[in-house]
Amino acid sequence: MESIINKNFSNTTVLVRVDFNVPLNEKNEITDTSRIEACSSTIKKLIHDKAKIILISHLGRPENKEEKFSLKHLVSTVSKLFKVNVSFVDDCFGVNVNNAVNNLIPGEILILENLRFYSEEKNGDLSFARKLSEIADIYINDAFGTSHRDHASTSTIAKFFPNKKYFGLLFEKELKNLKKSVFMCKKPLTAIIGGAKVSSKIDVIISLLDKVDNLIVGGGMAYTFIKSMGGEVGKSIVELEKLDVSKKIIKIAQDKGVNLLFPTDSLNANSFEDKSNLSFSNIRNIPNNQIGLDLGKESISSFTKVIKNSKTIIWNGPMGVFEMSSFELGTRKIAEAICEATKYGAFSLVGGGDSISALKKFNLYNDISYVCTGGGAMLKFLEGGEMPAIKAILD
Ligand code: AMP
Repeated sequence: MESIINKNFSNTTVLVRVDFNVPLNEKNEITDTSRIEACSSTIKKLIHDKAKIILISHLGRPENKEEKFSLKHLVSTVSKLFKVNVSFVDDCFGVNVNNAVNNLIPGEILILENLRFYSEEKNGDLSFARKLSEIADIYINDAFGTSHRDHASTSTIAKFFPNKKYFGLLFEKELKNLKKSVFMCKKPLTAIIGGAKVSSKIDVIISLLDKVDNLIVGGGMAYTFIKSMGGEVGKSIVELEKLDVSKKIIKIAQDKGVNLLFPTDSLNANSFEDKSNLSFSNIRNIPNNQIGLDLGKESISSFTKVIKNSKTIIWNGPMGVFEMSSFELGTRKIAEAICEATKYGAFSLVGGGDSISALKKFNLYNDISYVCTGGGAMLKFLEGGEMPAIKAILD
C-alpha cells in the first residue's frame, strides 16, 4: 500500500475521515485535544501540499441533530492548532457544501457537520456514501479508532475512490505498531487485560492465548474468573453467565502453556465510594459484604515482576477503579512497571480510553512506546477480527 508521504496532493480536493470525537465541557469547549493532534501529520502534509482539505468526523452519540454534538465547536481549535483558516458547513452534502468546497482556498480546511447526524452513516448507506464522495478527488482515512466499524464514511465510501484511497499517517502508524506488538514482537510477550467486564474482552483474550507468553487479567473482570474457580468474591462485579467461558479460557491457557495470571489478593470496600472502609483479603475469600475494587499488594508484586521481565507488553483496561484515589494503586503500579520495562528496552503498547486516562492521570503518557488511539479497534485488530475500514482501503 502506497503511503501518502510519497505523494503530492496539490491541486486536489481531499476528503479526510478523522476521529475528532473529542470531549467537550458544558460550554462546548474541548477539554482534551489529543484526538485532533493525533491527526496532525496527515493534516500538516496536506496543508503543505496545498490541497483543499475537507475533514469529516463523528462526535458523541447524537440521537438527532443536537447542537451540543455539532462539529462547529471544533472549528476555532483546529484553526489554532494548524494555523490556517477553517470554514464550517452545518451539513455533510448539498448546495452549501458544494459552494464551500468551491470557495475553499488550497491549503485551508473545511469541516463538515457531524456524520452521525445522519442515521445513514452508521447503516453504511451506499447513497449517503456516494453523496459524500462526490465533493472530493481523493479519500484518506485517518480514523483508526473507527476502523472496526462498517460505516458509510469509514468503509462504504472507499468504493467511490478506486486507486484514490489511502490510509492517513496516523492510521499507518497504528497498524505498524500493532503489528510490531503481536505479530513481529520480541519475546517474552505479556498482555495485560483489565476493565470492568469480561464479556467485552472474551474474544481478544482467547485470541491472545495463541500469541502471548504471559496473560495478566486484572480489574473487575478478574472476579468472574475467580468465582468460576470456586472463589468467594463477596459483592464484587461478576458476570454469572460468563463463568463457563471463564473456565474454558483457563483450560485453553493450560493446554497452550500460557502463563495466565490472576490477582491473588484484593483491596475491598464496603461500598462503591472513594472514602469507604477499606480492607485487604485473599481474592478467593472476600467477605459477603465487601466489593473488590483494586489489586492487593501481593498481586501488584507478582504482576510487576512478570512485566519487568517482558520484552513486549500490551495493556488494555485498568486494574481497579483507578478513577477513585483509594483504588488507583494497582493501576498506577502496573503502569509504572510497564514504563520501567520500556525504559530498559521493552516495546510497550497501550490502548483503550480508560488506560490512556490512567496514563495521563499518573503523568506516564510519554513513557510508553506507543499509545494506540483506538480502544475497540485495537482489541478487534489483536483478535484478528474483521476490520471493514482497513479492508475497504486495501480492496
Ligand atoms: P472497560 O470499559 O471494560 O475497560 O472498563 C473500565 C472501567 O472498569 C473503569 O471505569 C474502572 O473503574 C472499572 N473497573 C476496574 N476495576 C473494577 C472493579 N474491580 N470493579 C468495578 N469496576 C472496575
